[in-house]
Amino acid sequence: MNRTFTNWSGSVTTTPDAFHYPATVTEVAELVRGLPAGHSIRPFGGAHSFTPCAAGESNMLSLDKLSGVVSVDRERKRVRFLAGTRLHAVPTLLAPFGLALANQGDIDAQSLAGAVSTSTHGTGIDFTGFAGTVTGLSLIDATGTLREYSIDTDPEMLRLVAVSLGALGIVVEVEMQCVDAFDLLAVESTANIDDVLDTWEERTRAVDHFEAFWFPHTDTAMIKNNTRLAPGAPAPDGEPPSRSWLTRTIEEEVVGNGVFAAALALARTVPSTTPFLNGVAVKAMGAKSYRSRAHDVFATPRRVRFHEMEYAVDLEAGPDTVKEIRAEIDRRGWMIPFPLELRSTAADDVALSTSTGRESMYIAVHVPKATDPNDYFPVLEPILRAAGGRPHWGKMHTMQRDDLLAVYPRFDEFCALREEMDPQRRFGSEYLRRMFG
Ligand SMILES: Cc1cc2nc3c(=O)[nH]c(=O)nc-3n(C[C@H](O)[C@H](O)[C@H](O)COP(=O)(O)OP(=O)(O)OC[C@H]3O[C@@H](n4cnc5c(N)ncnc54)[C@H](O)[C@@H]3O)c2cc1C
Repeated sequence: MNRTFTNWSGSVTTTPDAFHYPATVTEVAELVRGLPAGHSIRPFGGAHSFTPCAAGESNMLSLDKLSGVVSVDRERKRVRFLAGTRLHAVPTLLAPFGLALANQGDIDAQSLAGAVSTSTHGTGIDFTGFAGTVTGLSLIDATGTLREYSIDTDPEMLRLVAVSLGALGIVVEVEMQCVDAFDLLAVESTANIDDVLDTWEERTRAVDHFEAFWFPHTDTAMIKNNTRLAPGAPAPDGEPPSRSWLTRTIEEEVVGNGVFAAALALARTVPSTTPFLNGVAVKAMGAKSYRSRAHDVFATPRRVRFHEMEYAVDLEAGPDTVKEIRAEIDRRGWMIPFPLELRSTAADDVALSTSTGRESMYIAVHVPKATDPNDYFPVLEPILRAAGGRPHWGKMHTMQRDDLLAVYPRFDEFCALREEMDPQRRFGSEYLRRMFG
């Protein structure tokens, strides 16, 4: 059995005393109840967080065996899942009910519990991240007792516990507000980055899911406009050409991953080629239009490994913040071979959601796995923090409890609940100590 936990980007490695793979909720409860004094247990999902938020010092627990649908409320379109269910399994599970998740990010390797617990999000100004669509949640608390939270009986409490990084207990079931299954009409093209930033709000409100990738050292961004369509409903301007498996493979695997990996290797060997390669990359993405089931458009394979930092700032402050980052990159003379990813979401009222109380623009920066992110990310953080930024809970940042207190209105309440629910830190770790005390 694997004795070491390593996250996707390879930045976190830990060797806890034991790994556990319970197959029932009862087994999870027994495990927690049976923990010897002084021992802790940390739950992990797909290990796709860039921070050590899942890392455990004595015990680690995977819910990979707790996967699938528990129940479906067809009328209200609410689906209760076992919390270890991976996002890529969801479309098949929901197909018999004609339902889908309301929105998604750009990969589907995460577990539902992991995505909810870190406030994972996609893009779309009328849509929240995963945690904003949670209508119920069950967890095993530090005494090994099952606690249930529901939006119908105590919405305030549900919203306080929804994003928790596994600091309150082991989430064993999550009920999601789903929607009727839908297609996405994807229209991808390039645009001038200044124009994109100057019209960010207009663009983001004009389409269901707007997103931009800007390659530093170029004036060009690749933009994505995704429109929701009922399956079978005609596309407003006529059907785009169908996208064959081969076309998709060439675009996603050869251009999106293979060519990109080769460009990164060259940029690493000869950094001065970075601006040229970035220009080539953005051109290679080109203009295209296609239609597919929503989850096939939202999620794409990410085989080139990288490190990432992402902050959510107020929607209105977002474009100027990106301009400041751009100026800082130029001033420093860095060579950055990875695009910034820019997205927006609706406000929600989940206590530790990165979009709590405000419409947000998300600004993500990346470096290849072989590059030390500490030369780049922490330099940009003051810009993001000056804009009232909140760091993604699963991505790199240097904020700590006191900093977080200033940007989350219910942060104290969350920490007090943690104190009450887990005074002995059965779910504790060095990382959580920094976040929550
Ligand atoms: C290539 C890549 C692309 C990404 N794209 C996006 C994106 O588009 N949008 C976005 O917002 N994020 C994105 N992320 C970040 C990712 O969605 C989050 O880090 C997410 O938490 C990962 O889910 P996971 O299942 O891997 O959780 P893990 O990383 O394993 O765990 C994350 C946290 O959840 C907790 N947790 C896991 N299971 C449980 C449980 N059963 N009970 C209680 N707590 C639990 C862990 O303790 C930990 O604190 C991306 C990451 C990668 C590597």
